[in-house]
Amino acid sequence: MQRTGILGAGQLGQMLALAGYPLGQRFVFLDTSGHPSADIGKTFVDPEGVELKRFVDEVDQVTFEFEHLPVALVRRLESLKPVYPSSRALEVCQNRGLEKSLFSQLNIPTPDYHLVESADALAKAAQDLGCGVQPVVVKTVTEGYDGKGQAVMRSVDEALDVWGRIGGRPLIVEAFVDFVREVSIIAVRGRHGETVFYPMAENQHVDGILRYSVAPLPNLEPSTQQQAETYIKALLEELNYVGVLTLELFQQADGRLLANEMAPRVHNSGHWTQNGAVTSQFENHIRAISGLPLGQTRAHSKTCMINLIGRTGDVQQLLQEPDLHLHLYGKEDRPGRKLGHINLIAEDWKTLLRRVEQISQLLPDAPTPQFTFES
Ligand code: AMP
Repeated sequence: MQRTGILGAGQLGQMLALAGYPLGQRFVFLDTSGHPSADIGKTFVDPEGVELKRFVDEVDQVTFEFEHLPVALVRRLESLKPVYPSSRALEVCQNRGLEKSLFSQLNIPTPDYHLVESADALAKAAQDLGCGVQPVVVKTVTEGYDGKGQAVMRSVDEALDVWGRIGGRPLIVEAFVDFVREVSIIAVRGRHGETVFYPMAENQHVDGILRYSVAPLPNLEPSTQQQAETYIKALLEELNYVGVLTLELFQQADGRLLANEMAPRVHNSGHWTQNGAVTSQFENHIRAISGLPLGQTRAHSKTCMINLIGRTGDVQQLLQEPDLHLHLYGKEDRPGRKLGHINLIAEDWKTLLRRVEQISQLLPDAPTPQFTFES
């Protein structure tokens, strides 16, 4: 029986374990936050980092469920056990500067950008990117997620204020992309380099937080899927990557894709695969890092993933709904917190869109679903 160690004990870790149990695997978690929510295996709660040795001794390989981990910790683990994905992948994905320069090196188009380390440089970069005519998006180079550590700047005069709010550390300034939609592609690479791709998803964010993901897409040119596969394959190969990798992209009016960011892990925009694809992203990540054959990625249903944020809604009522799968993370309600998600499946687009509309009305605070296609 293989034992996988997971750094982080949140919902992604929990869903990895849930997918790995039927493969005969067991899981050990290392939580450095002091607040583990996964409750499905042995968990070391270890904010001081003193249990590392005991954790490693119990597992055959290690993976992680979030990327805001000290790279030095992962390097230390790599000297003791196989770690997938590698510390290099982690390091690149933690730093928007390294990430964007890797995209450029591999000819993956991105929004124009500058890296800055002062309010003056921020003003100059914003000017250069046409701020005033169009906004620019300013982000911290490290540690931002779910829209945190970000600001939209509409005039160069705001530079000092933006630097005061999110600066004092390196920032990246990006041209504002007037995208038609946000999409993502998820790929899986096994230990021997074999690679599979999921159909791309369309993602609706509100205030930087994902609310709906839908896949597969009725209005996606096969050439766009292929283009995204070419981009993510280049990243997988360059990083000699093992496991699930996610690439988030903007699609423009002419159909072209611009890479926004990548995540070295299973991703919220891939939760639809639990109920809509032959093999879920979670199972495929476990298969990949364990050296097992990868599972099929084909979508067998039209699926919409709906995030439950802040409040879950009436579970009794939701569970009466047909074709609805509920995934709760066992967390207390709190504004802005991801508490769970719903996967709603259907055989045709018309039904799916109608059902998403209905279900969203049962959920407190759910935004109006808006997709770029109609039934
Ligand atoms: P990120 O943390 O980079 O994924 O950004 C969070 C969200 O902000 C994205 O999902 C987009 O909705 C928006 N966003 C980020 N960068 C840009 C950009 N350069 N142009 C327009 N919108 C952006």
